[in-house]
Amino acid sequence: MPAVSNPSRTPVFRAITIASSGLGSFMLGIWGLRFGFGDGVAGMPAEVIGAIIASLCALAAAGAAMSFFAGIDESATYVYNETHFDKLTGLLTRPAMIARIGRAAQETLKTGDPVFLIDVDIDRFKQINDSIGYTKGDELIRAFTKRLKAALPPDASVGRIGAGEFAVLYPDSSFTISMEAIAEQLINELMEPYDLLAHQQSVNVSIGIVAMPKDGVDPVLVLRRSNLALQNARASGIGNWSVFHPDIGRVADYRQWIESELRVAFDRGDFDLHYQPQTDLLKGEVVGYEALIRWKHPDRGMIPPVEFIPIAEETGMIGPIGEWVLRKACKDAAFLPENCFVAVNISPVQFMTRDFVGLVGEVVRTTGIKPQRLELEVTETAMMQDKDRAAAILKQLTEMGISIAVDDFGTGYSNLSYLIDFSFNKLKIDRSFINRIDEDANSGAVVSTIVGLSRALGVHAIAEGVETEKQARLLQAAGCEVMQGYLYGRPAPLKVENGQVVAVHGAERDHSNAMN
Ligand code: C2E
Ligand code: CA
Ligand code: CA
Repeated sequence: MPAVSNPSRTPVFRAITIASSGLGSFMLGIWGLRFGFGDGVAGMPAEVIGAIIASLCALAAAGAAMSFFAGIDESATYVYNETHFDKLTGLLTRPAMIARIGRAAQETLKTGDPVFLIDVDIDRFKQINDSIGYTKGDELIRAFTKRLKAALPPDASVGRIGAGEFAVLYPDSSFTISMEAIAEQLINELMEPYDLLAHQQSVNVSIGIVAMPKDGVDPVLVLRRSNLALQNARASGIGNWSVFHPDIGRVADYRQWIESELRVAFDRGDFDLHYQPQTDLLKGEVVGYEALIRWKHPDRGMIPPVEFIPIAEETGMIGPIGEWVLRKACKDAAFLPENCFVAVNISPVQFMTRDFVGLVGEVVRTTGIKPQRLELEVTETAMMQDKDRAAAILKQLTEMGISIAVDDFGTGYSNLSYLIDFSFNKLKIDRSFINRIDEDANSGAVVSTIVGLSRALGVHAIAEGVETEKQARLLQAAGCEVMQGYLYGRPAPLKVENGQVVAVHGAERDHSNAMN
């Protein structure tokens, strides 16, 4: 425990206090002698009695002073432990970490050796905690802490600075590999599944990095900057890390603006759904439409979903927005051709909320959509967060007759064993393989393998992001017959004709996607 600059705790001060209270009491005893027992008591001369009383007074006073200090010590230790160490993990608390960063900053100013501050955050920890319960959430944090500490050098200081957020001070002298390699390694290790007592849990992790003194020496400022870098990493996808640079501030302002604007936009009715056709080339017809949300801001115009969906997920706004999308898409199905289904994107956060199945059931009942006409697009990431729960949710949904498509397939997990446990009907081959298929033989091989896999599993396959005839031909050669992409139709709003809403026409242009 470091020395605390309180004079009442220095050894000299204590010795003086104990000695002076003892001596003072001794003098008091001697003085009492002159008035109290002038001729002595029970044959003992007054001097002896006086000396005994004075000594007892001195002992009692010194004892009282010592126990007073012991009390101070005990409460000081208690207060110190309470404020410096996190109860759940034993790591430094946020204030203690700030103090530690302050000392490291002083040191780096003296020596010139850089010190790195790494902000490590579990994505959407609050939602995970809500869905698995606080006891399991605590167990997860303890397991995470253990793995984090094991991955760091012994001279790194670690603090828990938020519910699922950790700060690490990493001295330059501890480097054996590059900062990039350290960040990659940390992310890989921390994102391996956690075997908790009752179930297995996976998390996504984002990392933000600042260097002192380059990016500042004020502890609060560097913490804010490491957090800005972290948010920047998170905005660019799952399991990312980012180093602070001054432009990040502007990005953060924009994110802040979106965050504050989302609620207003929702209440004002800024959102709409566009529909993109999915075409079966064998049948030669459109078989379904994917609903894609559009935000038209009155001042700023179109804001793409990739910019606001992650923020809605972090802030919890995805709850009302996702519910609105589901309800509207199911209502809109009435205006789409009877033989077409409507596919709705489900965010991982939404998928894991309590009673998601109940919500879907209620929406299906109240909108009157046939469950067979509803498809939910769920990503692998959503399914892997809590495999047992995900398996149960998927089973209930498919039993209701709803179709499940695994969205962005091929980008998430290399371990495909989960495919055996989950109920789903379709693999949606990610756009990244399709847009390289005509240049890169490996992408072609991946696509054929996915198509083969879907056949072996008895499910369908669809390719997304098909833009050229050549891609379509190669996909067909690989055995994929159902396609979605600009070649077959951009996302477009439902059309109003003579005051009546009518089905979208496949090839209509969606101006909001001009940037894609
Ligand atoms: P996604 O689910 O992978 O959706 C496909 C995205 O690819 C859409 O972008 C679509 O407009 C775009 N796209 C379709 N065909 C092509 C093509 O041929 N070429 C290219 N370059 N792009 C194509 P969008 O609408 O900007 O949506 C982006 C992402 O935002 C979606 O990716 C999905 O993850 C999310 N998203 C969109 N709407 C919703 C929603 O209602 N709820 C949730 N939770 N997420 C949504
Ligand atoms: Ca999708
Ligand atoms: Ca997709």
